[in-house]
Amino acid sequence: MRTFNRAEARIDLDRITANVEYLKNIADADVMAVVKADAYGHGLLPVARAALAGGASSLGVALLEEAIALRDAGITAPILAWLLPPGSDYKSAIECNIDVAAPSLIALKEISAVASDRRARVHLEVDSGMTRGGFLSEWDLLDSSHLDGIEIVGIFSHFARADEPGEKQNQEQRDRFIEMIKKLNSLGVTDALQHLSNSAATLKDPDSRFDMVRTGIAMYGLTPDVKTLGTSASLGLQAAMSLHAKLQLVKEVPANSPVGYGATAMTDRHTKLGIVAMGYADGIPRNTQGAGIFVHGKRAPIIGRVSMDQFVVDLGRDSAANSGDWVEIFGDGITGGYTAEDWGNASGSINYEIVTRIGTRVPRIYRSDLSIVE
Ligand SMILES: *Cc1c(COP(=O)(O)O)cnc(C)c1O
Repeated sequence: MRTFNRAEARIDLDRITANVEYLKNIADADVMAVVKADAYGHGLLPVARAALAGGASSLGVALLEEAIALRDAGITAPILAWLLPPGSDYKSAIECNIDVAAPSLIALKEISAVASDRRARVHLEVDSGMTRGGFLSEWDLLDSSHLDGIEIVGIFSHFARADEPGEKQNQEQRDRFIEMIKKLNSLGVTDALQHLSNSAATLKDPDSRFDMVRTGIAMYGLTPDVKTLGTSASLGLQAAMSLHAKLQLVKEVPANSPVGYGATAMTDRHTKLGIVAMGYADGIPRNTQGAGIFVHGKRAPIIGRVSMDQFVVDLGRDSAANSGDWVEIFGDGITGGYTAEDWGNASGSINYEIVTRIGTRVPRIYRSDLSIVE
C-alpha cells in the first residue's frame, strides 16, 4: 500500500454527533444539518451520517448535485436543496425524493411543469430582509394556480445578522417572516415546516427557532463569530477538524534574511525556520499574517508570504522541531494551538472560509467510535 503523508485534515466525527445532540437539545426543535460545500470541507457523507446519528432529522445542501450524491450513497433522510438556478433538473429532484426550495414564480412554474404526475416537495424561500434569495414583491402575486402538482412542505427565510444578536434587523426579519407565513396560510397551506434560524440564531435567539433550525458552522464545532458570540468552547461546541502538515525542512538562518516571494519579511535575529508542506493550493490563505503552527507545545508564526504548496514559520532558535515532524496548523485550540478562527482573523476572513477551502488534495482522515466511517 502506498502512503502519502505530507498533510492531512483530521476529522472527529463523534464531535459532530455530539454537537448536533447539543444543538438539538438547546433548540428544542428539529435540526436540519447543513452539509453543503462538502460539509464545510469536512466530507459530505461521513458528516451526514454523523449528524443523523446525533439526531438531525434532515440534511440541507445548496446544490442539487450535493443532494443527489447523498441519495446515491443510500441516505434516506429528508434532504432540502436550496440553490437551483432556472433550468435545473427538477425531474431528477422529484425522482430522488429531494425537497427543493423555490424563491420565485419562475421556479414554481418550472417545478410544476415536471411535477404533473408526481408531487414535487417544495419549501418556499421568502426574503424577510436579507435581500438575497427568496420571494419579495412576487410574494403578493402567489396564488394556488402556481402550485399545480406541488406540495408545499416548508417555508423558510435566512438571517443576515444573527451573529449580532442585539441588532434590531433580527427582530424585523422575524416579524416579516411571520407576516409572510400568513399569506401562505391564506392559500390554505397551514402545515408547512417553518424555519428561519442558522447556527447563530439557534444559539442566541430562542424566539426564532420555529419548527426547525438549520445548523451549519456550529455543528462542526465552530463559533459563528468569535468576536460577537465568543469562542467555540464558550458556546459548548467541540471543533471537529484539525489540520496537520509535515515540516518539509527545518534550518538555521542568520538575522536579516529576506524570506519568500517578494521578500516581504526579514528574520529579525538568527533563528530556525520551518518549511511547512502546505500552501494556498491547499487552502492556506496567501495573505495570512499573525497565524502559524503549533509544534512541541509552542506556536511558531508565519514569516513571509504563503506560496502555492508551502509556507515558512519562525520556530525560534531554541526550537526542538525537526525536519519531518508533524505540526498542527489549526485545531480546537485547547492546548494552545491556533484555531480556524485565528486563521480567519489573520487573513481578513472567517472560520467558515478557512475550513471550506481546504483543498481537495488534502486527505480527510476520520475517527469515530461509532461505525460511521466508511
Ligand atoms: C449555509 C446556510 C445555513 C447554515 O448557516 P450557518 O451559519 O453555518 O449555521 C443555513 N441556511 C441557509 C439557507 C444556508 O445557506
